[in-house]
Amino acid sequence: MRQGRVLIVGGGIAGLATAAGLARAGIACEIVERTPQWQPVGAGIVLGVNAMRVMRGLGLAEAVAARGRRLGQGAITDHLGRPIGTSDFGLLEADLGPTIAIHRAALHEVLLAGTGEVPVSLGTTVDAIDSRADHTRVRLSDGREERYDLVIGADGIRSRVRELLFGEVPLTYSGYTCWRLVVDFPVDDVQMREMWGFGQRFGIVAIDDAHVYCFAVANAPRGQTDSGPGLLGRFRERFAGFGGQVPQILAALESPDQLIHNDLEELPAGPWFDGRAVLIGDAAHALTPNMGQGAAMALEDSMVLVELLASGMPVVDALPALVARRESRVRWVQDQSRRIGRIGQLENRLLCRLRNSAMRLVPDSAGTSALRKMASQPI
Ligand SMILES: Cc1cc2nc3c(=O)[nH]c(=O)nc-3n(C[C@H](O)[C@H](O)[C@H](O)COP(=O)(O)OP(=O)(O)OC[C@H]3O[C@@H](n4cnc5c(N)ncnc54)[C@H](O)[C@@H]3O)c2cc1C
Repeated sequence: MRQGRVLIVGGGIAGLATAAGLARAGIACEIVERTPQWQPVGAGIVLGVNAMRVMRGLGLAEAVAARGRRLGQGAITDHLGRPIGTSDFGLLEADLGPTIAIHRAALHEVLLAGTGEVPVSLGTTVDAIDSRADHTRVRLSDGREERYDLVIGADGIRSRVRELLFGEVPLTYSGYTCWRLVVDFPVDDVQMREMWGFGQRFGIVAIDDAHVYCFAVANAPRGQTDSGPGLLGRFRERFAGFGGQVPQILAALESPDQLIHNDLEELPAGPWFDGRAVLIGDAAHALTPNMGQGAAMALEDSMVLVELLASGMPVVDALPALVARRESRVRWVQDQSRRIGRIGQLENRLLCRLRNSAMRLVPDSAGTSALRKMASQPI
């Protein structure tokens, strides 16, 4: 499809990357984004070498690297900071490129700049989709009724496009919940560290010279919320068993507004397309964040979809071709990520000690090789 009208629903990582890619390929598209204004979003994010490959293809890798921080190493430690294993991202760099940690707001700005003149309607969503063999008719929340050659649902884990196309597709709860935060913290040797406790993990990632992004994960029943006075104190108390730099980071927190809390859910199965409407990114296959690969998978989806459309393939062939190229890789990463989460969230103290001892016996090169293998597989 070299000509036609494409609607992208969702101006997040997948949506903006797709718009940037389509714009570069000369295919007209527009974005509708539910949020009324672009806001500084989220905490930090790690873009692995495969995510950075997509950013390179969009001509945005240098901007990402300039706004973020290159990670040389990722370490796993126990809750007190004693080493368990290391992955050497630096060793991947010569042939696969860098791993970059960046604030999500900065990533969003870079991607948005990459979309150039693509029109964006903020505060707008889809109310109805009628997807047929020769076109898709859409009713938008601003009252417009439009016909498109393709509708791309890039509207995240709770996708409205998915719901309109396929009804309710259930999300699976991982069994653990997560707080994300960014704090002003003098960065010394910290690059990326994930500390494994007992049913809890605490991750620390330097996103620039003065800030760290942290994620704090705990086993918990689904749907528990905590707010109101004393939240910060309760959060500090919950992770008080961690050593290393965690006590200083917890002390550096100034406001409960710095905490972003979500239950971690995934979408392990479900259809990707119907007629001329397709899901990409979290809307199609949200995964647990244990490998830091959700955005990478979303970016890879967008790259493959743009490549297929730009090749001139008709939409009705491009959508099954997208699934054929993407599904097994995405499901493999999803399965691996779930497994890592299960191991990382072990709660029994004896099992945790056995896990840590067993992992210390694995050579560091194994972690780096696994990353290399995943990153060099064809997308
Ligand atoms: C704790 C945590 C840590 C993570 N860390 C990493 C990491 O380090 N590396 C990594 O690669 N991935 C990571 N991920 C995963 C990553 O955040 C997601 O996979 C990624 O954001 C998915 O991108 P997306 O564009 O599909 O969805 P989103 O980024 O969620 O974007 C969806 C967009 O659609 C908009 N939208 C929603 N509904 C509508 C609607 N009805 N109409 C119009 N617009 C709508 C939203 O406002 C948003 O702008 C992490 C996830 C979590 C939860």
